[in-house]
Amino acid sequence: MAKLKQFKAESQKVLDLMIHSIYTNQEIFLRELISNASDAMDKLYVQSLEDNKVSFNKEDLKIEVRVNKDLRTISIKDYGIGMTKEELEKNLGTIAHSDSGAFKRALEKEIADVDIIGQFGVGFYSGFMVAKEMHVLSKSEQEDAAYVFMSQGADGYSINKVDKNDRGTEVVLYLKENTEDVNFDEYLDEFKIKQLVKKYSDYIRYPIVMNNEEGEPETLNSMIPLWKRAKSEITQEEYDEFYKSRFNDYEAPLKTIHMQVEGALSFNALLFVPNHAPFNYYQSDFKKGLELYSRSVFIQDHNEALIADHFGFVKGVVDSSDLNLNISREVLQNDRQLKAIANRINRKVKSELELLLKNDRQKYEAFYKEFGMQLKFGVYNHFGQHQEELKDLLLFTSTHEDKLVTLAEYVSRMKENQKEIYYVPSESVLKARQLPVVETLLDAKYEVLIFMDDVDEFAIRVMNSYDEKEFKAANQGNLELDDSKKEVLEKLTQDNQSLIEHLSEALKDKVSDVRLTSRLKTHPVCLVSGEGLSFEMEKVLAMNPDESQRMKAERILEINPDHPLFQTLQKVKEDRIADYASLLYDQALLIEGLPIENPVAFSKRLADLMIEANR
Ligand code: ADP
Repeated sequence: MAKLKQFKAESQKVLDLMIHSIYTNQEIFLRELISNASDAMDKLYVQSLEDNKVSFNKEDLKIEVRVNKDLRTISIKDYGIGMTKEELEKNLGTIAHSDSGAFKRALEKEIADVDIIGQFGVGFYSGFMVAKEMHVLSKSEQEDAAYVFMSQGADGYSINKVDKNDRGTEVVLYLKENTEDVNFDEYLDEFKIKQLVKKYSDYIRYPIVMNNEEGEPETLNSMIPLWKRAKSEITQEEYDEFYKSRFNDYEAPLKTIHMQVEGALSFNALLFVPNHAPFNYYQSDFKKGLELYSRSVFIQDHNEALIADHFGFVKGVVDSSDLNLNISREVLQNDRQLKAIANRINRKVKSELELLLKNDRQKYEAFYKEFGMQLKFGVYNHFGQHQEELKDLLLFTSTHEDKLVTLAEYVSRMKENQKEIYYVPSESVLKARQLPVVETLLDAKYEVLIFMDDVDEFAIRVMNSYDEKEFKAANQGNLELDDSKKEVLEKLTQDNQSLIEHLSEALKDKVSDVRLTSRLKTHPVCLVSGEGLSFEMEKVLAMNPDESQRMKAERILEINPDHPLFQTLQKVKEDRIADYASLLYDQALLIEGLPIENPVAFSKRLADLMIEANR
């Protein structure tokens, strides 16, 4: 080769990156080159509109992919606008991205490691991830001669005349030698090429053609994306099939949402809510995100910015021509257009879920069974930032027919004098109904929400109230259902002051207060927590590996003065009070599902008492 021209400094850096890349997504080179070929034909079309000397046959516009196993080459040939000698120099000798801010900064900081390749479209140079040498043969309408750009990467490049009659460009990649880790020969496999075209370039608007085993040309791409077809022409079966094959689900989706937005912002989105949560959905290795396309060219697998965390279960495809990708195909997570699209998508998902809740309760409840936990986390996370959006999508099990209810439904049934929304954390409806405090509430015809997921209470704590009605744990703080009972209780407390003081003294290390209550009906005692942390939250926090996060709820022992046991207590001798107090406390712990501190002592006291009673 004659003396080689040198690449510009920045191009050199990108090249080095490509050449030494061990990047696992090497396969994207094909997408990049096919995309360039497609752009070149778009440009030819535009040129023909501006210059009537330029014309073409529509049938000629195609992209041919050829592999040569003997020479170990892949070629991608288009019939587009082509490049003059000067353009080859300008476009391929200098990296086109040099004016793309983020990429440039990344390079300058030398933080440009292999990972960033995935985030930035790197265009033509990506070929050097798999090729040791690239030839670009090109013929432009503007010049009589055709030229070939040849480069082995870092050393530089040459541009010479070449024989080529067709207008357009052919890129030939001479594959690198196989290494222990990478088998470049896989790109010579027609089946692999087919797969890659399907995966990345299916919707390129021009046919991508490759000869099959019989030597006949076969078109590899479908060309029309489903999301761009008119909604009225698409059947649910087509949507279902698309979803299943695209997102590897054996079941049809629970809900399909097709958005075709035109106007200041224009994009197509085809979104799906799966029927079942993926097995790893609530684990940290689950990756949310939507597939991103720009003008039908695949850009990214899991774009996380497009969908809110609380709707992370949504799968789908977004295609927009508004993204600023024209020069470099880079997508930045905080791109303004991307954010605007994400907003529209999140709003739409929300309103579709609301509609489902309104029109097909059964289906919504099926959805909620799978993903309701996510919505509740959504209320709780980000300091409650999204609670307004989500509060009307929440369902909780209620004592009203033991069914799932919305908060709006609960509020609509509240009794005239009821100021608060009552709830109780419990493992099951059955257990909740047996709780002494719940029994009292139900008796007075109040509805109680039963919180069965750990996150429930955390979520409503963030909300604090719904429709100006505060949430109130049935087993926490003061529960004043009836003002008339208040006076009676105060009087009783005064009359039994010494007994209460003795009990308090005996339990001073365990509870912050002992008091009489109107909360109970058939049970003698219960344990309630103070206004702060609840017992359920205490249990959740107890699982925290960080010990400093494990906190205890304030404990208050409440005694039912209407229970016969209370009369017995009034008669107990002073030296036995401590034993009774201890038994009452342990009993209350057991009802709450909390462990008792000393089961042996508890059992002994109980046995002694039984013997004593029958002496
Ligand atoms: P990008 O495509 O993102 O602009 P590339 O590095 O892939 O960046 O390409 C640089 C430039 O080279 C393109 O902008 C285009 O002008 C030119 N080019 C690349 N491939 C072709 C082709 N097949 N036909 C015509 N021009 C091409």
